[in-house]
Amino acid sequence: MTTYRAPVRDMNFLLDDVLKIDRLNNLPGFSEAPRDVRNAILSEAARLSEEVLHPLNARGDIDGCTRNSDATVSVPKGFREAFAQLGEGGWIGLSAPTAYGGQGLPNTLSLAVGEMFSSANMALEMFSGLTRGAVAALLVHGSEEQKQRYIPKMLSGQWAGTMNLTEPHSGTDLGMMRTKAAEQGDGSYRITGTKIFISGGEQDMTENIVHLVLARIEGAPAGIKGISLFVVPKRLVNEDGSLGDKNAVSCGSIEHKMGIHGNPTCVLNYEAAIGWLVGRENKGMEAMFVMMNGARMGTGLQALSQSEIAYQNAANYAKERLQGRAIGPAAYPDKPADPIIVHPDVRRTLQGIRAFNEAARALVLFSTLRSDVARRSDDPAVIEAADDYLGLLTPVIKGVLTDKGFASAVSAQQMYGGHGYIVETGAEQFVRDARITMLYEGANGIQALDLVARKLPRHNGRAIRAFLDEMDRFIEENAGQTSLAATMSALRDASSDLKNATASLTQFAMKDPNEAIAGSTDYMHLLGLVALGYMWAMMIKAAQEKIAVGDTSDYLTAKVSTGAFFLDRILPETALHLRRIRAGGKNIIDLPAEAF
Ligand SMILES: Cc1cc2nc3c(=O)[nH]c(=O)nc-3n(C[C@H](O)[C@H](O)[C@H](O)COP(=O)(O)OP(=O)(O)OC[C@H]3O[C@@H](n4cnc5c(N)ncnc54)[C@H](O)[C@@H]3O)c2cc1C
Repeated sequence: MTTYRAPVRDMNFLLDDVLKIDRLNNLPGFSEAPRDVRNAILSEAARLSEEVLHPLNARGDIDGCTRNSDATVSVPKGFREAFAQLGEGGWIGLSAPTAYGGQGLPNTLSLAVGEMFSSANMALEMFSGLTRGAVAALLVHGSEEQKQRYIPKMLSGQWAGTMNLTEPHSGTDLGMMRTKAAEQGDGSYRITGTKIFISGGEQDMTENIVHLVLARIEGAPAGIKGISLFVVPKRLVNEDGSLGDKNAVSCGSIEHKMGIHGNPTCVLNYEAAIGWLVGRENKGMEAMFVMMNGARMGTGLQALSQSEIAYQNAANYAKERLQGRAIGPAAYPDKPADPIIVHPDVRRTLQGIRAFNEAARALVLFSTLRSDVARRSDDPAVIEAADDYLGLLTPVIKGVLTDKGFASAVSAQQMYGGHGYIVETGAEQFVRDARITMLYEGANGIQALDLVARKLPRHNGRAIRAFLDEMDRFIEENAGQTSLAATMSALRDASSDLKNATASLTQFAMKDPNEAIAGSTDYMHLLGLVALGYMWAMMIKAAQEKIAVGDTSDYLTAKVSTGAFFLDRILPETALHLRRIRAGGKNIIDLPAEAF
């Protein structure tokens, strides 16, 4: 039996005091969400998470989804009603344009809400996340007619969206994709092929499902350059918007899997299903990347969400479980033993998880705010800087937050001793659910590869130079403040490791790209640590400013102390990553495949 308390206080601190988003109240969307409105939205999302979504989480995990003999798929009890509430309440379309039925609010707010919903019930929130992702791709690349036809019903939760990339022989390497699209001459195509691992590919929650499908138009070039994107509804949509015949797409089976049991992972068979091109011929990857980039940020958020709920429950358990005595005087001499929270190693573990969670939350919101501002700007320099930043940080947020989020869920499970291995306590579900985040949306090795082989060299390293310059400016601006001296010194050391690692990788890449790629996961983690350290420096600064004007809340004291923990004990890991990168790839690459 687990509990969940949405971290509204922490989110408000980030939005109000660290990111100071009220300074943006002149921008569309931000003006509709001043502080009191934001707080009301977050509080209502917290209520929904705690009272509606979380109570369905363990049951959904145990019952899972069922594929019925007529190829329909039933979701766990209660999911249908809860999803309907999310749609009716405007939660799916919180940041979507009002022209299509959205609320038009900042995406930053939507991500904060998404964290809560995902902590409370990751399997259920996945349906919303994928629907939002499909809407995002349609908004950028769909025709006006497609937008009008699909988006309002998706935002209202009447219809859901899916993302169809993977095929049995084509996972990471999408260029090998075989699904075909045959032009019909009336603007439509017939889609034929098999997609696997499609989240929410079939379900009985919504009256229609809008599949976004990658396929190859007959005669298209081989490889990644010959892939196009199609919208293929489960049920065809009549001119007046009503539902027509069932399309020729069916669920062949659902996977039996490690976690997220409440979300069906489907084999979808397309047998000359009717679909329509989204965007331009052979530009499908570009269109799908809108969805994939959002999904990568969302996947980092999912891992944080599991780490957060795992932490909360582990901390509660540590305050209750009586084992052993504190070194020195007993904390509770009247009880047979002290609670395990008295033991330094238990505290170290909990503090490690918490230090990650709070910085990860800050990084997701900080990064999303940049895209929110850029989206509302007509200044090419602002747009370019945000594009560079997000291009660089998206694989880091996906790869690092999911590696660390999963590790944190395991650390939280450790706090229960053997009881953490038992289903009843609930800690193992968080571990199982978090594990997928390292695998899907491009496995983490691919995120590291994307970072080092594509994002780093792009525009001669413009993005990483801008990131390092930003760090230098921030350190310089704050170095004079005595209360921030230790913080800035720790950040300077970490940032210097990142500079040296970037120089090493660049040199390796000139010699042999494999040498640079051998260091890619270390580089991704090094950059991730610096970004998280930067978040801690900003949070410590904001907390100290509030303390200086008389706010003595325990929340702020804990914030500063958790930040100091991160800077002392976690951030110095940058040195280890640098050392590994400098070692090059020789003893990784040289070993022949047969030797493994
Ligand atoms: C529960 C679940 C839900 C999913 N949901 C969806 C969905 O909704 N839609 C969808 O389209 N797909 C979905 N997927 C598929 C998922 O995105 C893929 O499984 C994932 O991208 C990896 O592809 P793969 O499994 O074929 O692994 P492979 O591509 O076979 O990779 C195997 C391993 O090799 C590594 N590797 C491969 N190539 C390289 C390289 N060049 N350099 C370094 N390492 C490499 C990978 O990192 C990985 O560790 C889902 C999968 C699961 C399990």
